[in-house]
Amino acid sequence: MRPVLLLCCLGLVSASALSQAGATRPPVVAEKIFAAATDAPEGQRLLGGDGPYRANNDLLHYSLDVRVDPVERSIRGTNAIRFRMLADGSRIQLELVPELSIDGVRMGRRALTFEREGATFFVDTPKRMKRGKVYKMTVAYHGMPKEVGRFGGFVFSKDPVGRPWIVTSCEDEGARVWWPNKDQWRDEPQEGIDLHIAVPDGLTAVSNGRLRGSRDLHDGYTRWDWKVTYPINNYDIALNIGTYSHFGDHLGKLSLDYYVLPEDLEKAKVQFAQAKPMLQVYQKYFGEYPFIRDGYKVVQVPYAGMEHQTAVAYGNGFHNSYLHNNHDDWTGVGISPRFDFILIHESGHEWFGNSVTAADPADMWIHEGFTTYMEAVYVEAMYGHADEVKYVNSFKTMVYNKRAILQPRGINQAPDRDQYFKGALLLNTLRNAVNDDAKWFATLHGFAETYKYKTILTEEVIGYFNEHLGGDYTPVFNAYLKYVHIPVLELSFNDGAGTVEYRWKTPEADFNLPVRAGDAAHWTVLHPTTTAWQTTSGTRESFKVDTESAYIGVDEDPDRSSLERPGYTLSCMTSSMGRMDRYRMPQSGRRRQVEEALGTTSWRPIRRARRMRLFEMGCWRLRLGGSTLPEATVWRGSTRLRGW
Ligand SMILES: [Zn+2]
Repeated sequence: MRPVLLLCCLGLVSASALSQAGATRPPVVAEKIFAAATDAPEGQRLLGGDGPYRANNDLLHYSLDVRVDPVERSIRGTNAIRFRMLADGSRIQLELVPELSIDGVRMGRRALTFEREGATFFVDTPKRMKRGKVYKMTVAYHGMPKEVGRFGGFVFSKDPVGRPWIVTSCEDEGARVWWPNKDQWRDEPQEGIDLHIAVPDGLTAVSNGRLRGSRDLHDGYTRWDWKVTYPINNYDIALNIGTYSHFGDHLGKLSLDYYVLPEDLEKAKVQFAQAKPMLQVYQKYFGEYPFIRDGYKVVQVPYAGMEHQTAVAYGNGFHNSYLHNNHDDWTGVGISPRFDFILIHESGHEWFGNSVTAADPADMWIHEGFTTYMEAVYVEAMYGHADEVKYVNSFKTMVYNKRAILQPRGINQAPDRDQYFKGALLLNTLRNAVNDDAKWFATLHGFAETYKYKTILTEEVIGYFNEHLGGDYTPVFNAYLKYVHIPVLELSFNDGAGTVEYRWKTPEADFNLPVRAGDAAHWTVLHPTTTAWQTTSGTRESFKVDTESAYIGVDEDPDRSSLERPGYTLSCMTSSMGRMDRYRMPQSGRRRQVEEALGTTSWRPIRRARRMRLFEMGCWRLRLGGSTLPEATVWRGSTRLRGW
C-alpha cells in the first residue's frame, strides 16, 4: 500500500511546487502563531526581520572568492550576489560584521554607494532596479575575522600535529561573521553557490558541494573550487582548511567522500562504515538524499559537529555516543554506545535543516526536533521498536520546560534546547496518537519531499500533518510548542466506587490527545478533554497511564491542597530554571530513607556537584546521582506537579 500512497503524495507535490514557481521564500501564511516582536532593538530587527530591502529581492546565486592567510590570520575576497527584484527599488539590505571592512560594491563597472548600520549594510543603485529583472552586485571585503560563539565562527587553529586547521561554523552567529551576504534564513540562493578558496600550497580547502578542481596560483597559494547546485542556507556554507586525507565510496549513484587528518584515516574508515546503513534508513523513511548531484561528504573539524550541507562537519573523535557531552552513553539507556551520535544527527539534518529549512530561527525546531526524531527512527530501523521507545523516552531527561519552544519571530533568535528533545517527543506523541504507522511514516516521507529545498514556518508543518494524518492535530502541536509546561492528565480516584475521573490540564483549551490508560496489559484509549471530567473504572493501585507513548505528566491528586499525606516524604522546590535547588523533608514515614539518600534534613542549597536533576519520565522522579529517590512530591514554584 505504501508505495501507492507515496506516489499520490508526490503527484500532489509537483503540482503545488509548480504553482509556487521557484520561490525559496515561503508563501505568506494567514494564521501566525506568533507575531514579530516589535520591542526588540533595531539591529536585532534588521537582522531578524523581513524588512523592505530584503523582501524586495529573491536570491539566485552567490559566487564567493576568498583568500585565507593563516599567518596574518586574515581573509580577503569578493562575493558576487545575483538576485531577482520582486518589486521596483534602488536599495537592498546585506550583512557583514563591522569588524570586517567593505572595500567596495560594484554592479558591472559601476561603483555603488553603501551605508553600514551595525552588522547590516544597505547598497543603493543610481538607477531604480525593476521588478522581475535579475541583477548582480559584487562586494569586496577583507579583515581579520574574530572567533565568536559556540563553535568559533571563523577559527584559525592547529591540528594535533601543529599544522594549520582553519574552519568556520556560524549557525548562531550568522554567515556575516566571515563573508558578506543576505544573512536571512527565509531566502536561499536557489541556484546555489560557487566557492573559490585560495589557501597556502600544501593545505586542502574542503567546502560544500562538489570539487571542481584546484589550481596553482603560482604565488604560494592554491585555489580550490567547489560548486553547490541546490539552494543552501547561509550558515551551512563552510570552509574547512587543513592537511586532509581523502577516501571515497558510493551508495548507488550517491558519492560519499570523507576528509580526515592523515593520522585518523584508518579510524575514520572503520567509524564511517556507519554512514551507508544510516543513509539507507534515512532514504527509506524521508526520501532520496536531497543533494544527490552535490554528493555526501563528512569533513573532520576541531569542534563537535555541524550540519554543513553536503560537507557534514565531524568532530566526535571516531567514537560512538557523544564525545563532547563527555559520555559513553549520553542518553543513558544503553543505546547511544551503539552508534556515532554526531554522524547520525548531523547527517539527518541534510533532510531537516538543509533541505527543509525554517524561514525564521524562531521556527528552528523544524531542524532540531525533526532531526532528533530521525535518530529515533534510525534506532527503530536498526534495533527495533522496543529500543526506539527506550531511546525516545530518554529525551525526557533532557527537556527543561522553562520556556516555550516558539518565541517571537523576526528578531533573529532561536529556541532553547527544548527544540531538540521536546520537539522530538512531540513527534513521538503524535505518532502514537495517530496509531497508524503506515500513515505516520508516509506523512513524514511526504512532508520531507513536499518542502524539499523550501523555507517554511511552523504553520506549514501543522497544516501538512493535519491534512495528511486526517485530523486536526493543531492543539497537540500548540500544547508542546506554545507553552512552557507539558499537558498533565489529572486523575481523581474514588477507590470506594472503583472509579477514576480524568481530564487534561493544559492552557491549550482544545487539547484532545487520546491517551492509553487502565490495565497495562490491555490499554483502554481514553479521550480526555480540558473541560469536563470523564469517568472510567480503576483504582489507584491498578490504574496505569501509558506515559511512554505520549509526553505527558500525570497528577493523581489534582484537588488535594495538602502536602502531608502518607507516602509523600520529600518536598522539593524547583528554581525558575527547572532545576531543583532547594529541598526539605517534612516529618513523615520515609524520612530516614530519603535522608540517607540526600545526606541532609533541612532546606539548603544543593551544591553544584551534587545538584539533583529533575527528571520527567512520564511520571516525575527525582534522582540523586544514579539513584532514584523512592517517593517524593515535586513542586515547581507553588504548583505541585507530581507525587508518587
Ligand atoms: Zn542538530
